[in-house]
Amino acid sequence: MHEKCGVVGISTADRDVARPLYYSLYALQHRGQESAGIVTHDGFQQYEHVEMGLVGDVFDESDLDSLNGSNGIGHVRYPTSGSVNNCCAQPFSVSFKSGSLGLAHNGNLINTGEIREELAALGHAFTSDGDTEVIAHDLARNLLEEDLVRAVKRTMSRIHGSYSLTITHDETVLGVRDPQGNRPLCIGELDDGYVLASESAAIDTLDGDLVRDVRPGELVVLHDDGSGFDTYQLVETEQTAHCFFEHVYFARPDSVIDDELVYEVRRDLGGALWEESGIETDVVMPVPDSGRAFASGYADAAPDGVDFAEGLMKNRYVGRTFIMPTQDERERAVRLKLNPIKSTVEGKTVTVIDDSIVRGTTSSQLVELLYEAGAEEVHVRIGAPPIVAPCYMGIDMASRDELIAADRSVEEIRDEIQADSLSYLSIEAIADALGTSDSDLCLGCVTGEYPYDIEGEQTDREVTRPAVGHSSADD
Ligand code: 5GP
Ligand code: MG
Repeated sequence: MHEKCGVVGISTADRDVARPLYYSLYALQHRGQESAGIVTHDGFQQYEHVEMGLVGDVFDESDLDSLNGSNGIGHVRYPTSGSVNNCCAQPFSVSFKSGSLGLAHNGNLINTGEIREELAALGHAFTSDGDTEVIAHDLARNLLEEDLVRAVKRTMSRIHGSYSLTITHDETVLGVRDPQGNRPLCIGELDDGYVLASESAAIDTLDGDLVRDVRPGELVVLHDDGSGFDTYQLVETEQTAHCFFEHVYFARPDSVIDDELVYEVRRDLGGALWEESGIETDVVMPVPDSGRAFASGYADAAPDGVDFAEGLMKNRYVGRTFIMPTQDERERAVRLKLNPIKSTVEGKTVTVIDDSIVRGTTSSQLVELLYEAGAEEVHVRIGAPPIVAPCYMGIDMASRDELIAADRSVEEIRDEIQADSLSYLSIEAIADALGTSDSDLCLGCVTGEYPYDIEGEQTDREVTRPAVGHSSADD
């Protein structure tokens, strides 16, 4: 339901970057399974290979061999609901008068329509309805008139919404994070270069060191020869809008995002869940894999008599239940995916812990499964608040009417999933665990109030939208 994509960019002294990009995309595969792509530049020309499919299927030896150059970017894309199509696979690349551009985007713009209309009126032809192409055309246009840094600044003053970008402009690799820092992006150091990536796990995979997060509103330009990077704070921000769901579900637990190790945040959230609504049962078990860190934090906070155990096994070859188009298929997929371990469950009172409830499919199936396996009581604890509203920072959106919590109380949901008890985590606990104020987080999906100016929805802050229009963009 939320926008997840993975982006990466690498500059090295003189080593081909195709392979390190490929390994990074493997490390970011959880952020998108629909398509994968790499764009490189060798100082003379741009190379690209972008296809539908998983990273391991998209590239073979000869594809990687043909991606020349020591500078490049990569992208993995999350499946959109319904039809799988080729239009939006990334990186998006264009060649124009003053050079070549490649763009990889994680996020979602909310004013694409206006900019697209304006650029179309100026003669730009669009091949997709994606917002990444709009950013590429706007930037290409600005680059005809201005240097790289000013051109990026001008584009940032026009686009509104959520974006972490890695970009190639000829052989120069750059990274940009939107002024509210909605999606993650970090900088890493390699032996012979630098890397920009959605998550630090990609940097670890390359044996690199995390330098720091890219700051909201910051542009990072990697040196073409891998010797360093320059940074420009192009937009000053007073308030951020970090997506809390990155820490709850999207990101790998072994990544550090905005200075917090995701695994520890999840364990803290699990501990808070015990403090807020702990119940003593014979056993505490996670819904694998997303509930694991929460359940271990919860069980650690509970008294000694409460055992932590694996009570559910996951078939790792079953795809994400979300891709199943119909409810019936989704229910079947849950049964294929999860099977109880009888000895943990039979004759026991159990607490089962997951990170979130979206449609409610997983939890209803689970509760039924655990009763069938002989559980005496099934209590459900969730490491996030109820998801009551859609995510507009995304494209694979569950609509309001699909969200089980959109129009139901917690008691009504408990009744629907047939659990003995059900509790969610409070919003305050989320802000606490992240060591930040809730006003610096995007909590749209759990409050229905967004840090952006979205038509038909409420906003939780003073939204100052940048003026759209080529002439009014200030430098
Ligand atoms: P539900 O079955 O209630 O529709 O979804 C809840 C389950 O989906 C949880 O186990 C959670 O880990 C997972 N989940 C939460 N958000 C997302 C998402 O955006 N995409 C995918 N694929 N799974 C999600
Ligand atoms: Mg899950």
